[in-house]
Amino acid sequence: MINNPLVKSLLVNILDDESNLIIVQCLMEGMGTDEKIAEKTGIRLNIVRKYLYKLYDFGLASYKRSKDPETQWYSYVWKFEEDEVIKKICKDSEEYLEYLNERLDEEENNIFFICPEGHLKLDFNMTSEFEFICPECGEDMLFYDNSEIKNNIKEDIENVKNDYELFKENFKK
Ligand SMILES: [Zn+2]
Repeated sequence: MINNPLVKSLLVNILDDESNLIIVQCLMEGMGTDEKIAEKTGIRLNIVRKYLYKLYDFGLASYKRSKDPETQWYSYVWKFEEDEVIKKICKDSEEYLEYLNERLDEEENNIFFICPEGHLKLDFNMTSEFEFICPECGEDMLFYDNSEIKNNIKEDIENVKNDYELFKENFKK
């Protein structure tokens, strides 16, 4: 599961570094305690704990606490919440696609003008309010060809869609 590009990028974001993915790998293999994970991976115990709690903060890990009747010490058994990971990725992907589509609409339904000195980029209405003159420097505003921006957004949409489709095929029940 953690080799899927969306899962990987979500987890690396939380765990700060790809090498820490092994903590999740350990959880998935049923190594439920921070001590065992630290022992297996060689990562310092306080670092393992830090990332377990970080995963917990994102709702992607949970723990059960139990008291040892002899020592009276608490032990924590951790679990990686795969279903929550799937839910989060679906939600994030859908929100991101929505955002990209809104951005594309905005670029497609407007024409833009820029100051040749780089002060401002404005849509048609704003530019005509300023009478096609940059309010910062007084230069004539120039028509801005946004076809490259539109193409980049379209490419992004395609990529996100493809990744998301692949993800859903593999993981969504
Ligand atoms: Zn200007």
